[in-house]
Amino acid sequence: MSEDMSRKNGTSENFHKSIFRVSGLHKASQQLQQSKDSRIDRLVQYLMMVLMFVAISALAISNTEASAKLGLPVERPVVVLDAGHGGVDPGKIGVNSALEKEVNLSIVMKLKEYLEANDVTVHLTRETDDGLYDETDSNKKVSDLSRRCELIEEIQPDIVVSIHQNSYSHSTVCGPQIFYYKTSEKGRELAETLQARLNAMPECLKQRVAKANGDYYLLLNVSCPIVIAETGFLSNWEEAQMLVTEEHQERLAWELCMGILEYLR
Ligand SMILES: [Zn+2]
Repeated sequence: MSEDMSRKNGTSENFHKSIFRVSGLHKASQQLQQSKDSRIDRLVQYLMMVLMFVAISALAISNTEASAKLGLPVERPVVVLDAGHGGVDPGKIGVNSALEKEVNLSIVMKLKEYLEANDVTVHLTRETDDGLYDETDSNKKVSDLSRRCELIEEIQPDIVVSIHQNSYSHSTVCGPQIFYYKTSEKGRELAETLQARLNAMPECLKQRVAKANGDYYLLLNVSCPIVIAETGFLSNWEEAQMLVTEEHQERLAWELCMGILEYLR
């Protein structure tokens, strides 16, 4: 091997060594790059998550503001439904022997279902036949009414609808009627909205106007907007017969639900 050749070979060996060194370095640098890349990936992922969270929060805030601007309630509205009477107090007794307390509760349970299906939180003052008094109470009627008011004040709902049936000495008198506390503007608005709904029913036997009242215990002792819905006269034969049917109770509940939603919007 000539000197030149061996020099060449030496150069070639060195060249290969340096190639290996370079490729080793290259591998190390690749590994370093990979670990750097995965750190960057994790950082990018984290930043994306932060950005998404900020965007979702901003969207939620802007939705809330938009809802408030549109006059839509931001939270689920809360309604108390009060089925009048119960237990030893049957309320009015119909010409067909219907008991007011039973008709009231039946309409309340249907109305509750309709309202809940429309994202309204519903509380009931009673959901069984029992009144809200203790057996030992000397004046069960007063205890019952004051317990209802206490319950309502504890819940602090947006509105209260108390369901009752009417009665009169003349059997020809008929038609649903809504009562509100005489100085309550919101009570009047709710009462008129519900009255309009019930008046528009094809089954409505007589169209009436919502009426102000200053005597009813519940109207006097509840601070939030409250109405008493007397959904018919049990002293009128035709209306009393309608009031005990599932169909008419459903109809009344549906119209009251629509009226309540209209008021809440
Ligand atoms: Zn009653």
